Amino acid sequence: MKNINVTKEMFEEQVHSYISNKDSLALIDKAYHYAEEKHSGQFRRSGEPYFIHVLNVAYILAQLHSSPVTISAGFLHDVVEDCGVTKDEFVAEFGEEIYDIVEAVTKIGKLKFKDEKEYLAANHRKIFIAMAKDVRVIMVKLVDRLHNMRTLQYQPVEKQKKIAQETLEVYAPIAHRLGIAEIKNELEDLSFFYLDNEKYHEIAHLVENKKSERDEYVKKMIEDISETLKKHNIPFRIFGRSKHLYSIYKKMETKHKRFEEILDLLAIRIVTQTELNCYEILGYIHAAYRPIPGRLKDYIAMPKANMYQSLHTTVVGVDGRIFEVQIRTEEMDSIAEKGIAAHWSYKEGKGENHHKDQSEIVKELEWLKAFEESSIDASTYMNTVIEDVFNANIYVMTPKGRIIDLPNGSTPIDFAYRIHTEVGHQTVGALVNETLVPLNTPLKTGDVVELKTNKNSGPSEDWLKIVKTNNARNKIRAYLTKKENEQRQELIKQGENMLKEDMKRRGVDVAEYLDQKKLENIYGQFQTSNYNELMYAIGCKSLSTQAVIEKMVKFSKKELNKDTLNQILAKNKTRRKASTSKTGIIVEGVDSMKIAMASCCNPIYHDEIVGYVTKGNGIKVHRKDCPNIQNEKKRLIHVEWDENKDPSIKYETDIRIYCKDRNFLLTDLITVIAQYKATLLAVNVAVNKEDLTATANMTIVVEDIEHLNTIMANLRKVNSVLTVERVIK
Ligand code: MN
Repeated sequence: MKNINVTKEMFEEQVHSYISNKDSLALIDKAYHYAEEKHSGQFRRSGEPYFIHVLNVAYILAQLHSSPVTISAGFLHDVVEDCGVTKDEFVAEFGEEIYDIVEAVTKIGKLKFKDEKEYLAANHRKIFIAMAKDVRVIMVKLVDRLHNMRTLQYQPVEKQKKIAQETLEVYAPIAHRLGIAEIKNELEDLSFFYLDNEKYHEIAHLVENKKSERDEYVKKMIEDISETLKKHNIPFRIFGRSKHLYSIYKKMETKHKRFEEILDLLAIRIVTQTELNCYEILGYIHAAYRPIPGRLKDYIAMPKANMYQSLHTTVVGVDGRIFEVQIRTEEMDSIAEKGIAAHWSYKEGKGENHHKDQSEIVKELEWLKAFEESSIDASTYMNTVIEDVFNANIYVMTPKGRIIDLPNGSTPIDFAYRIHTEVGHQTVGALVNETLVPLNTPLKTGDVVELKTNKNSGPSEDWLKIVKTNNARNKIRAYLTKKENEQRQELIKQGENMLKEDMKRRGVDVAEYLDQKKLENIYGQFQTSNYNELMYAIGCKSLSTQAVIEKMVKFSKKELNKDTLNQILAKNKTRRKASTSKTGIIVEGVDSMKIAMASCCNPIYHDEIVGYVTKGNGIKVHRKDCPNIQNEKKRLIHVEWDENKDPSIKYETDIRIYCKDRNFLLTDLITVIAQYKATLLAVNVAVNKEDLTATANMTIVVEDIEHLNTIMANLRKVNSVLTVERVIK
């Protein structure tokens, strides 16, 4: 294929070579004239009428034996973008099918492949294929690019480089994966020409220099082989083959070889009829020439990922020259050159025409799967394509054509956070394909997403349920947490101010009492554990400044030291002596002097109790659940509380408090006991240095079970207290 001035006659001859159906020809003719009319008055940089471009595209498609629909799409591929033809107009003339192809081609044309550094060329290929759900779209787009590359000399240098780079990274590999060697080679050589002109000419020169010499060898070799094969009556055609310049350059670069060292510079291809013929020919060639070990490749038994099939061998041929020989059937040869186009080359007959077109779409996925299964080499690539493109990923665009890839099910919010964190925070609405949609709408590949933002807006908690990407979720969480913190800081400040003001009003010295060290005594009283928590509680108004001030003043004293504690205990003990004679218990027919509380379980007024008749020591009253009397059923008698007991009668009991050790812990515990007007008789704190826990055993005097329960409940609220329990000895 070369850049030639295609005429109407050439085009028609090409089309008639494989299409004769009247309807098909009428469609192509209509597209031809429609495009000619719509593009009239438009010119390319070369000065040629624009129509020449689309005629060339249609012509190359016809060379590839594309279907009438694909050729028509080739003619029409620029009328929507460049001639302002509306969808309705287009569909009325040519129907939805061709419109869909043209629309997809247009969309791909708008992609800005090279704008974003973060996107790799491999991604672009995937995006391209994802955008082109229909293989016909890829064909039209590739051919469009091919003709643009053929006429690239009219573009400014900067643009030449940019387009050539993109062609080399995106379009040539796609052509390769589709097995269209003709297009791939031409795209590579054209890109090479514009990207590294010096090197291009250097290699072209080397090739040219050796050409006559090489041609001589090749001619000899062809004659030699032909003679051998003719003897064996095998159908074949044989010809010499030259590698394209870019592939020579790549071999020199990647294998660090000099031009002369590239083995398959002398190459011969033999095309025959059947697979069996291929192996037969290989046998005769190996018999006639010495094969180079390790160079035999059987791509017939193991086709390449792009369905390429052939036998390759390298032999020492005439005059000791090294030749690469490729052996394949006609069909394999056609697939090798035209790839996917060969698979779907349009064939007429028995009303199948239309079917063929339809199946191009339907079979596309199967075809990709065939790719996947056929080889180890490309399975990596195709696996990724299938997984990312068809299952896992969607590709959407900004109005300016920047591509954003997102996981399936992503919403405009995910999209927004990918653009920029602030854009995400400020998003208030989204237009998808120019239609306003709810923010939880899942996006689809090809969607164009435009965001509405508002500087004063921010994400809401609901968004966490809508978003699909971790990126968006993390940023929303961070925003919400930050906002919450700010509000908290604000309330802490407010609480502090409220407290200070109230202190001043009450004449309490702020400097003296609002001291973090002193305040440590009272945090536990309000189920808080530090300054900020206390101020926050005041700021939220869940705690009154009055209650806090009262405690502040009361507990500004120093922590209890041993001496003060002993003083308290001693005082309490003397007080107790005066009032122990009565128990508040009635036992029918028993003198109250003979009734006493058991010292193991220390029953308290309104505990469930039982009497135990001792031998000569009166009655001991136990709690019903005291383990010490569970096996003494015979000696138990009924006892009950005196509902009219003297209120001055109080009861001793033992409690155990298990806590995390900290400063002022004992002070806080004793404070609670004092606060509820119980008397502390004994206290004993043991600290476990290993896990930093403390166990406080206390003997206290209370009025009744309700009193005790209240005290225990309040002890549990003290900061760092883990458990509080009554003790039975
Ligand atoms: Mn075009």
